[in-house]
Amino acid sequence: MLEAVRRLVDEVVLPSVERWDRDDELPDEVLKRLAELGVPGALVPEQYGGRALPVSAMVDVWRTLAQGWISLTGAVNTTALATELLVRYGTETQRERWLPGIATGEVWSSFSITEPGAGSDLSRIETWVEPAEEGLLVTGRKRWIAGGFSFPLAFMLATVKGQLRPSCILLPSEGRGSATWTVEPLDKLGYRGVESAAWVFDAHHAPGGEVLGGEAGMGQGARQMLDVLAVGRVNVACRGLGVIDRALKCALDEATERGIGRGTLLGDHSHTQLRIGELRGRQLVVEAAIRAAAEAVDRGGEDAAARATAAKIMASESAVWAVELASRLAASRSYTGDTELARLRRDAPQTQIGEGANDALLIAAGKAVIKERKASR
Ligand SMILES: Cc1cc2nc3c(=O)[nH]c(=O)nc-3n(C[C@H](O)[C@H](O)[C@H](O)COP(=O)(O)OP(=O)(O)OC[C@H]3O[C@@H](n4cnc5c(N)ncnc54)[C@H](O)[C@@H]3O)c2cc1C
Repeated sequence: MLEAVRRLVDEVVLPSVERWDRDDELPDEVLKRLAELGVPGALVPEQYGGRALPVSAMVDVWRTLAQGWISLTGAVNTTALATELLVRYGTETQRERWLPGIATGEVWSSFSITEPGAGSDLSRIETWVEPAEEGLLVTGRKRWIAGGFSFPLAFMLATVKGQLRPSCILLPSEGRGSATWTVEPLDKLGYRGVESAAWVFDAHHAPGGEVLGGEAGMGQGARQMLDVLAVGRVNVACRGLGVIDRALKCALDEATERGIGRGTLLGDHSHTQLRIGELRGRQLVVEAAIRAAAEAVDRGGEDAAARATAAKIMASESAVWAVELASRLAASRSYTGDTELARLRRDAPQTQIGEGANDALLIAAGKAVIKERKASR
């Protein structure tokens, strides 16, 4: 899979990515090829027809995709999260219904938590559902749904009427685009090509809509969806690492090709060497953090969530920093719209926000450590 992905990135993605970015278009053939290679459904267990790859095996695949375009790593992420939700919390009927299609690449899934008034703070979720004939009646608004126009399935956080806490709702796409379920595109600075949708439900009748895990999953949606976000944070961290890889490549191109002064190259000067040394160090440290986080997720370690969060924060902050550093070396060559560094400047901040805004994650991590310390006194 990794070899095939590498070829796809070198031969198809890199020659076209600036055009796709400009046109805000991720071609269907590329998604189809990723599905054929088994990338979106890679985590599906063997008994449902999948390859049962561990998250640690996906790190190089997600990173390689991001070296081509972070939008590719993002596009396959939510289907991996859907897989994890079904495996960890689905009923057997739900697993049998959806996992085989995810394994073959026929079913891609969205993962929808965010609302116009609720990002990090899930106590503000206002979308709600109530039982209806063979499904659910849905009312509310969701935002930033990857695959929100075309993926046939979504896992969506919403409160079942009469419950205090939200549940994770399995929502097939029948009726999407109708008057009761409208879909609008969101225009984005970067991370283009990925469908990012805003949904409005007005007493929408969703046949086949149900609570993940049935009765046992009622009111458990926030816990379930946050739990699998450890996988999503490894994915976002890989996006950041892919950006760092490309920023370092751009910096090295400048260092070894651009003449400065008489008979010297930019890379012969110590300030360039210093910057490239910093970039290389950060690349290695971020890579190590991501591998450690992925291994913790695979072994179900208690440290998995904290490590995945830390890796995502380090990778994303380093990605933004790396692009800035490489752009200083490239100067005006980073500023015309068709350059890779110009695109990376727009793409990199997505990794600071996706799967949780970094500042909000840091506040939560700090709170947890202080609480631990108080409890140990
Ligand atoms: C390109 C893109 C794609 C996305 N795709 C998806 C998707 O597929 N599915 C999905 O569900 N979501 C998606 N999102 C949404 C993303 O997960 C949210 O934007 C993210 O969780 C942050 O939420 P927010 O933007 O509402 O900001 P918030 O988290 O609400 O943060 C706003 C501000 O409040 C601060 N803050 C937050 N919590 C606290 C606190 N406790 N104390 C003090 N200050 C605090 C933050 O630091 C920040 O400054 C996507 C977003 C983007 C940009």
